[in-house]
Amino acid sequence: MQVTAKLPPTWNVKYRLPVKSQNDQPAPDPQQPRGPGALKKALDYSGERLLDLGYATSALPKFIYPTVVGTPQQEAMTWAALDNLPMHEAVRPISIETMPSFKEGPNLLGVNRVAIGHIRINASGYDMEFPSQFQETVTHEVGHSNDYKSGMFSMLTRQHGSSHSHFGKPGFVSDYAETQPAEDFAETYRVHHHNPQQLERINPAKAEEMRRLDQPHFLEKLVDKPAYRETGKYVARAFHSVPLARAGLELVRQVTVANLAIMGGSEAIQGVVKGDWERAAEGTLLAGAGAGMAMAPTLPWLGVAATAALGANRGLKLAQEQGASPAQKVAASTAGAVGGTVGGFVAPLALVQAGYSLAGPIGGTVGLVVGGLFGGYYGGKLAAQAALSLTK
Ligand SMILES: [Zn+2]
Repeated sequence: MQVTAKLPPTWNVKYRLPVKSQNDQPAPDPQQPRGPGALKKALDYSGERLLDLGYATSALPKFIYPTVVGTPQQEAMTWAALDNLPMHEAVRPISIETMPSFKEGPNLLGVNRVAIGHIRINASGYDMEFPSQFQETVTHEVGHSNDYKSGMFSMLTRQHGSSHSHFGKPGFVSDYAETQPAEDFAETYRVHHHNPQQLERINPAKAEEMRRLDQPHFLEKLVDKPAYRETGKYVARAFHSVPLARAGLELVRQVTVANLAIMGGSEAIQGVVKGDWERAAEGTLLAGAGAGMAMAPTLPWLGVAATAALGANRGLKLAQEQGASPAQKVAASTAGAVGGTVGGFVAPLALVQAGYSLAGPIGGTVGLVVGGLFGGYYGGKLAAQAALSLTK
């Protein structure tokens, strides 16, 4: 056959073009054919956005209520007890479950496993004709959560209110308060929220301490509004049938944040050891972001700083990918920090408010998820890209 010899010259051109362009690009990995490669890319992308959602919920002031489990009446009473508390205190526990009875016996009214944020209330300990006692027990247990604040970082530092000199010393609000400083704190907390005048009479110093605890941080005050409370309840209710999944997610979130700090720290150290200062800067930004998120429940401004650090890291990475000059790298990471903060912190909060006013708690939840998934990523990336284009 003479077919090849008779082919028109254009055939060669057509044939050669892809060959030439293949030489310009890195050879395709034979292990990764096109289909699965695209799938992997999509999975990586969605995995990273999910991580971003975790980071956003770590950095934002908390407004997701505990997941409440019980009969409809018990649940309503538990919500009412939580609504009576300042937002930043109501959101400390992860779940509050009312059980028909306790294997420990009817005398134990409630148990708070602070380390995992799980509160159990013993329904057999009450006459349900008198809901106030039930609500006061919920408040007492939430008091424990605000003494030993839940979360890995606060558990490590063991910071707690009952170590304050007033607690464990007389003027006690009840006999039970005398048993140990932690119970004094929880009992004082209960009386402070249900009968403040009584506490003021018995122990003004402890009352003063409780009022200090009630003072929200500026950022916490920002979310103590119906839009965030109702959205926070809606999200909490989504876990109603699977409270364990909520605890699991919470653990994953904390591990992810810790991992970010550890990974960043090790990158920073390796960068310093090898004299690679960009790597050191990248690692430091990640470590700072992780540490900031871990400490945000106690120091809310660190949540803002953490989203800024994540954005700066995104900007720096983008600049490296595009082979930018050192000056451009500075510009890109600075812009990334600003864009990352606007997108990762301001956007989710604003979208909750906007979504809630449009469609109630469902709208607020959509706003939170959309803002958390995409806000930080696109905020940081777009701002850094703009800075790179402007400084070219
Ligand atoms: Zn107690």
